[in-house]
Amino acid sequence: MPRDYYDVLGVSRSASKDDIKKAFRDLARQYHPDINKSADAESQFKEINEAYGILSDDDQRSRYDRFGHAGVSGAAGGGFGGFGGAGFAGFEEIFEEFFAGFSGRGASRRRGPIQGSDIRVDVTLEFVEAVNGAEVPVEFERLDSCETCGGSGAQPGTSATSCPQCSGTGEVRQVRQTFLGSVVQASPCPRCGGTGTIIENRCKSCDGAGRRRQRASTTVKVPAGVREGLQIQFRGEGDAGERGGPRGSLIVHVHVRPHEYFQRRENDILLEIKVNVAQAALGDKVNVPTVDGDVELVLAAGTQTGKVYRLRGKGFPRLRSDGTSSGRGDQLVQVIVEVPTKLNEEQRKLFAKLAESFGTNVNPTVSGTGKNFVERMRDFFAGE
Ligand SMILES: [Zn+2]
Ligand SMILES: [Zn+2]
Repeated sequence: MPRDYYDVLGVSRSASKDDIKKAFRDLARQYHPDINKSADAESQFKEINEAYGILSDDDQRSRYDRFGHAGVSGAAGGGFGGFGGAGFAGFEEIFEEFFAGFSGRGASRRRGPIQGSDIRVDVTLEFVEAVNGAEVPVEFERLDSCETCGGSGAQPGTSATSCPQCSGTGEVRQVRQTFLGSVVQASPCPRCGGTGTIIENRCKSCDGAGRRRQRASTTVKVPAGVREGLQIQFRGEGDAGERGGPRGSLIVHVHVRPHEYFQRRENDILLEIKVNVAQAALGDKVNVPTVDGDVELVLAAGTQTGKVYRLRGKGFPRLRSDGTSSGRGDQLVQVIVEVPTKLNEEQRKLFAKLAESFGTNVNPTVSGTGKNFVERMRDFFAGE
């Protein structure tokens, strides 16, 4: 007597279809003769395959439940033992075709609701807009549910009918002869594409697709503090779903145009200002641009080139992952003392006088460090 099919797969009599599939898959991987070289692997594999062939089919299973092996004799056993002339099919090949029915290209999966696709749009903000946040109008194309047919794809007044080829199941089962014996292969129905229904009278607006590509526009609220490359997801703004599935998302890729003189470093804003030697030596009040407008900066007497002043709270808002922000970074103003390269007569005299006043021991000095602005800033932050 053949073994009980439930025992073969190691599942209970109340096991669900998924449990059965899973049990079969695990066992098949274990006992496939390409993998398992023990003497009885092949016969065990056939047994497993046979059990699965019966228990995965609702009709066969119910007959087996009622009548045992007698109820299904010939259904699965017939092809067994016949290796045919085809030779051994490879492990991958068998699995490929065997699992095609339920591995994501699955017939049954096609029938349920499918979420619509995400749509990408790019927005480019000015530097200051990135500081303050902005509402940006965007236009894009997306699939909307067809208004004419309400998404059904059928001409109004008609409706989709059950597919005659698969009786509305969306999948067709073929028994293939392989070295394993008969292998039941489920694949999406070619007639209805796995949907289980066919549309006799296609909606003229959407040609039966149920969705139509249309222009859409919305206003995207970009939070304050965004940086280049940030992606913001707006759920429910993407393509319409299929068969009642939800819409996908609108994914906004944010770009920020570089500023003429501000630079961003984390949430701080860097600015370089140039002052002349007189301002540096004597001190001065200078107007400094910030993203909030000009502010007065008091230069201390004796300000050296490379000196950095910090304007608190004049940087970027610190954006949190939920789109809100807490506090702001600072603006760092680095002072560059410029030595005049052209002097008029009067200035030349004044510098000469200055030299006299400093004494004759005028040492040539190293002007600057030879590093660029970014490098000097890095040194500054490193505490050098
Ligand atoms: Zn339509
Ligand atoms: Zn069909």
